[in-house]
Amino acid sequence: MARYTESKCRLCRAENTKLYLKGARCYSDKCPINKKRNKPGKHPRYRSRKMSDYGIQLREKQKVKRMYGMLERQFRIFFDKADRMPGKTGDNLISLLERRLDNIIFRMRFATSRNQARQMVSHGHVLVNGRKVTIPSYLVRVDDKVEIKERSRNLQMIKESLKEYTKSGVEPWLQVDPDSAQGSMKAIPRRAEVTDLGDIKEQLIVELYSK
Ligand code: SF4
Repeated sequence: MARYTESKCRLCRAENTKLYLKGARCYSDKCPINKKRNKPGKHPRYRSRKMSDYGIQLREKQKVKRMYGMLERQFRIFFDKADRMPGKTGDNLISLLERRLDNIIFRMRFATSRNQARQMVSHGHVLVNGRKVTIPSYLVRVDDKVEIKERSRNLQMIKESLKEYTKSGVEPWLQVDPDSAQGSMKAIPRRAEVTDLGDIKEQLIVELYSK
């Protein structure tokens, strides 16, 4: 399974914004994006350089792609699917990305980051409607029962992660029972309900792919 192997923080620094790829660390003072203002590399260019429209659209796409830990080919498949759906393509894209199984595991607070959630899925710790699913891009449907396999529920990383559930709960479109490490998607997530993507403008991604 293809994945990014670069340092996660390096990806944030390349975009000069927080992409929240490392869970709790991203919310702490240890986040290097708070300190380093230049791009990674030996001779970084400063962000103040004026970017072309294409450059702006490309960067927006890269940010979203990296936030959800996807590579170009799969991201494009999601975009094409969003484009075929009724309604606004940008809204559909975010909604589809939110329905990915790895994202749902992250949103249900069973993992501290999408990256960790992706690993849990591919290592076989997750069941959907009672069956093991090892595909992180699996699209969860309304009322699907998503759970951590019984033998895996005592994993320290899951216990640690569920502490976040105690602090801030879950998104309104999800329902979770932390004691049994299971939950379900109550409704399709709408763009307006996804509020932690910073200032992402998905319309720029639509413009990029429409060229
Ligand atoms: Fe690293 Fe997280 Fe900060 Fe990004 S947001 S630079 S992944 S600590």
